[in-house]
Amino acid sequence: MSKHAYKFRLYPTRKQIQALQWTLDHTRELYNAALQERRDAYRMAGISITYYDQANQLPHIKAIREEYQDIHSQVLQDVLRKVDKAFKAFFARCKRGGTPGFPRYKGKGHFDSFTYPQTGVSLTHDHRLCLSKIGSIKVKLHRQIKGSIKTCTLKREGDAWFVVFACEVELKPLEKSHVAVGIDLGLLHFATLSTGETIENPRYYRKGEMKLERLQQALSRKKKGSHRQRKVAKQLAQAHRRVAHQRHDFLHKHSRKLVNTYGLIVFEALQPANMSKRPKPRQDENGTYLPNGAAGKSGLNKSIVDAGWGLFQRFCLYKAESAGRVVLFVDPKYTSQVCSWCGQVRKKELAERWHSCECGAELDRDHNAALNILALGRSVQGNLRSPRRKPSGVVTKSNSACCDQDSRQNGSHQ
Ligand SMILES: [Zn+2]
Repeated sequence: MSKHAYKFRLYPTRKQIQALQWTLDHTRELYNAALQERRDAYRMAGISITYYDQANQLPHIKAIREEYQDIHSQVLQDVLRKVDKAFKAFFARCKRGGTPGFPRYKGKGHFDSFTYPQTGVSLTHDHRLCLSKIGSIKVKLHRQIKGSIKTCTLKREGDAWFVVFACEVELKPLEKSHVAVGIDLGLLHFATLSTGETIENPRYYRKGEMKLERLQQALSRKKKGSHRQRKVAKQLAQAHRRVAHQRHDFLHKHSRKLVNTYGLIVFEALQPANMSKRPKPRQDENGTYLPNGAAGKSGLNKSIVDAGWGLFQRFCLYKAESAGRVVLFVDPKYTSQVCSWCGQVRKKELAERWHSCECGAELDRDHNAALNILALGRSVQGNLRSPRRKPSGVVTKSNSACCDQDSRQNGSHQ
C-alpha cells in the first residue's frame, strides 16, 4: 500500500464560500476550546484529558451551542484528534527533555483546513464534491483518482479553496528494467539524459518568474500597511502558489516518466552551492575553482530553476522506492570536463557547449556529463553488489572520474 494525496481546486459559490469559512471558524473555535480545557486540566490539576473524554462532550456542546449541529460530527471529532496529536507530540517532547513549548492556540491565519475523516463526502459524475452540511461544490478534477479515498480535507489558500483526497493505492510493482540512465541537471536544459535526450524547462517558468518580479517591485513601491499594498501582497502570494503548482506538475510528470522507464537512475549529488541561487562552482582539472560566470548567468539562473533540481531528485527517489527502482548520487566533480569516451580531461569554459576530443568523441557538453554520471553510477552499483571485489572506481572520492575508463566506455555505448 502506498499513500497518495490528490489536490483539486474547488469553485464554490459565494454562499458556499461563506459556509466553508463558517465551518473553518467554528472548527478553529472548537480546537482552541479543546486546547484550553486540556491546558487548564494539566496546569491546575496535573490531569491529562484524553481524546475520548473530549469526544464524549460533543453531544453536550451541540445541545448548548446549536450551531455546532451544522457541522458534520466526524469533522468535529477530527478537530479533537488534531488537539490530541498536538498534546501527544508535546508529551513526547517533554520525555525527551528540554523545555518544550505548550501546544498553541490557533489564530485566524493559522488554521486553514478541516477534514472529513471517512464519511460525509462523495464525488458525483458531473464533477461535483458533495459535502455533508455544506452542499455540492464544483471541483476541477484534473487527474484521475487512483486507489480508495481515506480522508478528505478542505483547505483554504488565500482566497482559493482546495480539496485534498488522501488515498491508499495498492502497489503494483513495475516490471523489472535493466536500463540505466545518467542525468545532468543544468541551466540551459533542465536535464540532459545519457541517452542524449533533454528535458526542457517549461516556458511558463520564465513567464511566471517575470510576473513575480514585477509584483515584487510593485509591492516595494506601495505604502506599508496601505490597502494597495495588501492587494499587491495578495496577488504576489497567488502568483507564488501558481508557480509552485506548475513546478510540481512538471517535476511529477518527468520523475514519473524516468522511474517508469529506467531501473537505475544516476544523479549528480547536489552541493549546497548548487542548491542556492548561484550557478555551480566550476573546477579545472587540478580541482581549482574557476570564475563561474555568476553575473552573466543571473538572468537565466533563478530560484525557480534551482529549487526544481532538489525537488526533482526527491520526487524521483520516493517514486523509485515504491517501484523497486534504484536512484544513486555521485560526485559531480569533473563530470563535465572528462571525455566520456576515452577518459581524458578536456578543459572547457562554461560557455563551451560542445565536447570534442581527439579520440573522436563529438557530443553536447551536457550529454557528455550525463554519460560520465551514468558510468560513475554503474561502478558504484557494481561495488555495492560485490563488496568484496576490489573497488575499481571509487566514486564517492573526488578523483573518481579519472579512473575506471573501461566502465565509462561501456557506459557510453549502452
Ligand atoms: Zn576522448
